[in-house]
Amino acid sequence: MSDALHLVCPACHAVNRLPASRLDQQPRCGQCRAPLFSGQPVELTQAGFARQIGRNDIPVLVDFWAPWCGPCKVMAPHFAEATRRLEPQVRLAKLDTEAEPDIGGEFRIRSIPTLVLFRSGREIARQSGALGAEDIVRWVRQHLP
Ligand code: ZN
Repeated sequence: MSDALHLVCPACHAVNRLPASRLDQQPRCGQCRAPLFSGQPVELTQAGFARQIGRNDIPVLVDFWAPWCGPCKVMAPHFAEATRRLEPQVRLAKLDTEAEPDIGGEFRIRSIPTLVLFRSGREIARQSGALGAEDIVRWVRQHLP
């Protein structure tokens, strides 16, 4: 494994390259200076989705949700807690399937919430239904080396 990592900025989607050793030193985006990890899930839209999934060298976990979905609301604080626990080893992001129906369709999201774990642009695991923070963290670690 190379010791330089590509990380996509959650704010401007610039691809940053930084040594793996700097991952846990609160790195900032070279382009816009935003923190690369904020302890909050990244809100994805069509504009940055492909790049966040495809260009990050760390795995990306996406919560496909919708504003009208009760279980999604219940899971939201748990997902935020999981973000604090899994960063900077994993990027956690949310995709509003009502605002971005094309992406939900592309990934054949049939029920929400659905969690999809991506690595190097490819889906490696999927899970439907709300989980608590502990279970999200455990599920992600189960699927990573
Ligand atoms: Zn940036």
